[in-house]
Amino acid sequence: MSSAPYIVGNWKMNGTRALLAEARAINRAAARYPGVQVALAPPFTLVQSLADEAQAIGVGGQDCHVQPKGAHTGDISAPMLADCGASFVIVGHSERRKDHGEDDALVKAKAEAAIEAGLGVIVCVGETLEERDAGQAEAVVSQQVDNSLPALEAIADLPAGKVSVAYEPVWAIGTGRVAEVADVVAMHKAIRTRIEAAYGEKAAGVRILYGGSVNAENAAALLAAEGVGGALVGGASLAAESFAAIIAAAGTEPVD
Ligand code: PEP
Repeated sequence: MSSAPYIVGNWKMNGTRALLAEARAINRAAARYPGVQVALAPPFTLVQSLADEAQAIGVGGQDCHVQPKGAHTGDISAPMLADCGASFVIVGHSERRKDHGEDDALVKAKAEAAIEAGLGVIVCVGETLEERDAGQAEAVVSQQVDNSLPALEAIADLPAGKVSVAYEPVWAIGTGRVAEVADVVAMHKAIRTRIEAAYGEKAAGVRILYGGSVNAENAAALLAAEGVGGALVGGASLAAESFAAIIAAAGTEPVD
């Protein structure tokens, strides 16, 4: 199992080149914590610049097309991301599922396209508030995991750590409302069961991240929770100060 905590910042549609100064500071902070795997997913426009200069962090995309190239105006393919230095891509974020009507089958195809291009992949799942209130959270998320993860044949030859699942309750994203640790633990356990059903012994190499209003104050408790292999962080990853505090909260020793 890849045991290093995986802390990933998702900048969403934020950041012009001026924000690279924060990324440099994040890179310096990450270098102090070699026991933590740190990554940033900036907008496409910053991927290459960041990948060129940030040595202590992984750099990734926030989405990719299922095709490697072709007549798809405005889209970016997984090989294009790899070509400009990305090492991973996030797929199936709830904002993509909502804003672009992405369903599980498309998310799965994107994940497999990413792997084909040599990228790691973070597959996002999570229930809405209505689904949680209706007592359907676990069923919804389990179904998303079953249908969004790349097929076993696609990951069979991959080393541990290349595929992650991010559990992000939709109602916790960007709202300041964090899931209870006990609920996170229960959902991560349910997700682990589905990953094991899909991948057998390969499941041990898949980390499950929590995402949804993670910040400097709540990170330590969430990251220490059973089954939580890291965090996918939106708002708090835009500033080096708050993101560095989350990296430090992952519980590994810094080097000076
Ligand atoms: C996200 O966008 O994946 C996310 C978790 O955002 P935030 O941390 O801002 O809730």
